[in-house]
Amino acid sequence: MLDPADAAEVVDFWRGLGLPGVFDVHTHFLPPNIETRVWAQFDLAGPKIGREWPIRYRGTHEERVEQLREFGVRRFSALPYAHRPGIAGYLNGWARDFAEQVPECLWSATFYPEPGVTRYVSDLVEAGVEVLKLHTQVGEFRLDHPALDEAFGLVEDAGTPIVIHAGSGPVGNQFTGPHHLERLLRRHPRLTAVVAHMGAPEYAEFLALVEAHENTRLDTTMVFTEFFDVEAPYPEDLLPRLADLGDRVLLGSDFPTIPYPYREQLDGLTRLGQRHPGLGEDWLRRVCWHNGVELFGVPA
Ligand SMILES: [Zn+2]
Repeated sequence: MLDPADAAEVVDFWRGLGLPGVFDVHTHFLPPNIETRVWAQFDLAGPKIGREWPIRYRGTHEERVEQLREFGVRRFSALPYAHRPGIAGYLNGWARDFAEQVPECLWSATFYPEPGVTRYVSDLVEAGVEVLKLHTQVGEFRLDHPALDEAFGLVEDAGTPIVIHAGSGPVGNQFTGPHHLERLLRRHPRLTAVVAHMGAPEYAEFLALVEAHENTRLDTTMVFTEFFDVEAPYPEDLLPRLADLGDRVLLGSDFPTIPYPYREQLDGLTRLGQRHPGLGEDWLRRVCWHNGVELFGVPA
């Protein structure tokens, strides 16, 4: 399933920018039994997917790690997320083992509003977990659920980056939308929250939240690709502000659950340079490499 042509194009991208590779903060690796079920939702265009979404990078975990290595993705994540209570511990144990076996992978974990959550988040943070992930659309919980308050306090104090999918794309529900993150940041304003998919489709509201909270970031996941532009194009008038936030935008791709070649994410970002002068090569270098290194440290 390795596609050498795909890899050559990606390598051309970062070589052309004079980078040692790319740093992709938003990729997924899940335990195989869970992953099979998640992928089935994509294959069926299930209710939380909402459109045809043929996953391009199938194959074993080993093959997908090898594919990322061929691309020159020097650092990536696993970003498990729980769809119900009682499974975060299982996901987190698996993700910890995975990160131990795959040195490029950030040690990733998740949590859920459930008994014991403060305890296990405390253990994770103390042990040095590198990145956390929450998906409120799938998990169907509110970010300001009282059971999560202490856990968020610990994460905020530790400065652990937490990737949060709270935008209403691809299909919104009562647990998505910028007001959820706004309430969370009112209680935990120093949180190192990374807004997944730049908050699509509520780009403007999430951008304003990131501007107002200096530890927060945006990840580019799927935004600016032709696939995403059909349903959630990025508003032209926000581009100057995106240029100003150049130190707080991180490359994300959603590999492997993307319906197009990996390079399309990078092409979409590259096209921004034609739309606004502040989104040229210097901005790309920060987004695709330096900002990730600054936040997570230098890859081994
Ligand atoms: Zn994702």
